[in-house]
Amino acid sequence: MTPERILIIGYGFSGMAAAIELRKNGAEVYLVEIDPEWRNYGAGISLAGPTLRAFRQLGVLDAFLAHGNAHETVSLRPQSPPRYQQT
Ligand SMILES: Cc1cc2nc3c(=O)[nH]c(=O)nc-3n(C[C@H](O)[C@H](O)[C@H](O)COP(=O)(O)OP(=O)(O)OC[C@H]3O[C@@H](n4cnc5c(N)ncnc54)[C@H](O)[C@@H]3O)c2cc1C
Repeated sequence: MTPERILIIGYGFSGMAAAIELRKNGAEVYLVEIDPEWRNYGAGISLAGPTLRAFRQLGVLDAFLAHGNAHETVSLRPQSPPRYQQT
């Protein structure tokens, strides 16, 4: 049974994912964020398979991919020694 009204603290991935799922189940969701700027930190976000599968389940994968770049492999290059490792 889903409670009728739910308060979620924080607009992070966890809070937003919970809000989407709870709303699908009919709950009235209130999402609050302490940071008025709702800043992001860093230059970009890299997401791997498990996160993308979760996004698909939430129904937001296509919208997410429309704003990003999908690729099949990642190359990690340590500063020293200078060689590549591909995963
Ligand atoms: C520099 C950096 C780069 C990263 N890069 C990646 C990456 O490329 N790929 C990746 O998968 N992960 C990355 N991460 C990790 C990723 O950011 C976290 O795993 C993810 O944000 C966790 O989500 P969350 O919703 O649990 O918490 P958060 O994103 O921390 O969200 C919690 C939210 O709650 C708010 N909050 C806190 N206290 C209160 C309160 N009392 N009242 C109201 N609101 C409150 C906070 O302001 C925040 O917005 C990175 C992290 C950092 C710091």
